Amino acid sequence: MTLSTTSTTPRQFAAIVLEEEHAAHNYHPLPVVVASGDGAWVTDVDGRRYLDCLAAYSAVNFGHSNPVLLDAARAQLGRITLTSRAFHNDQLGPFVTELATLAGKDMVLPMNTGAEAVESGIKVARAWGYRVKGVAPDAANIIVMAGNFHGRTTTIISFSDDEDARADFGPFTPGFRTVPYGDAAAIEAAIDENTVAVLIEPIQGESGIVVPPADFLPAVREITSRRNVLFIADEIQSGLGRTGATFACDLVGVVPDLYLLGKALGGGIIPVSAVVGNSDILGVIQPGQHGSTFGGNPLAAAVGLAVVRILATGEMQERARVLGERLRADLAELIGHGVVAVRGAGLWAGIDIDPELASGRAVCEALMERGVLAKDTHGSTIRLAPPIVVEAADLDWAVEQLRAVLTELAG
Ligand SMILES: *Cc1c(COP(=O)(O)O)cnc(C)c1O
Repeated sequence: MTLSTTSTTPRQFAAIVLEEEHAAHNYHPLPVVVASGDGAWVTDVDGRRYLDCLAAYSAVNFGHSNPVLLDAARAQLGRITLTSRAFHNDQLGPFVTELATLAGKDMVLPMNTGAEAVESGIKVARAWGYRVKGVAPDAANIIVMAGNFHGRTTTIISFSDDEDARADFGPFTPGFRTVPYGDAAAIEAAIDENTVAVLIEPIQGESGIVVPPADFLPAVREITSRRNVLFIADEIQSGLGRTGATFACDLVGVVPDLYLLGKALGGGIIPVSAVVGNSDILGVIQPGQHGSTFGGNPLAAAVGLAVVRILATGEMQERARVLGERLRADLAELIGHGVVAVRGAGLWAGIDIDPELASGRAVCEALMERGVLAKDTHGSTIRLAPPIVVEAADLDWAVEQLRAVLTELAG
């Protein structure tokens, strides 16, 4: 095993060796071993502190060890954690009611991981297609976007165009059509009588925080409504405060038919995901047709309810909006100094590093040495998505560290 930094301590090394030897190598983590976290900061096994600018891919939007969320979890841990949906539990009703209200819908299908929410959305859309729209048996198709990321199951990777995500995992699930992201006319052209849904990330996260043209999502809404096709917004990463709004769709005044939610819905404590829509669509699923042993469990519902109540005040959304403007203004000043482009919305920035200067990975390793944790995506892009509770001064400091790293690399 090789470590890419000189500063790895014996304690870190010991932890990394165990992981490398006995955990499957499906990730390539930075060589930092985190032991605890508080707010936007994490501490490693040697007591060094880092500003977490990834926030577990936005699953930790409300901060590590958020006291309100921890209280909700602890209280529920002492009562009951799992009943299965064979019985009712006293947490699920309030959770789904308040989540539906937050989303302006009337029904919630609770699951656990994001990929399960996507899979559930696909099943709901197909069932709606056959039972409501009248699509011929097994003929349904769903339109997806080039450059998408919706998770890692065999069906979901079937419509990915990332070769690493697909290679040697076939055969793939049919029934998907890919069109260029941001191209509403291509969606319209791809729709036929068997199209049941268009599945879109309102902002593509894993692709590098790619924001589509402002008229794209409104055009998709118009087309899908007119052609009787469901508009499914995968807001698993973009939703729940990250972009300065409850949903990224809100930024352009669009209401999809189904929201897919996950990541931050579990408050960074437990996987909680959901499909949220109206009963004329979600109501097609009847008992026995879909399920999950853990979906809607009382611990998940209690934490999810606490998350929804945080979002219901709008404070996190406003904080992400204000801090995000500051972050992106600061980052814009780095353009031409090792940065080629900056994209984003709210407290979510994709930064294209000049590939001549360094890879995204090299920048992230240098940032780590300076106490900032960030993650590269697609070669030369790094993303910044700190917990929304981050202090403005800490955010400024992180950008200063990036500036220093770029200056060093330009050396
Ligand atoms: C992370 C993510 C998923 C998958 O979520 P998991 O919880 O990792 O299964 C799906 N869609 C988007 C947009 C994501 O960012």
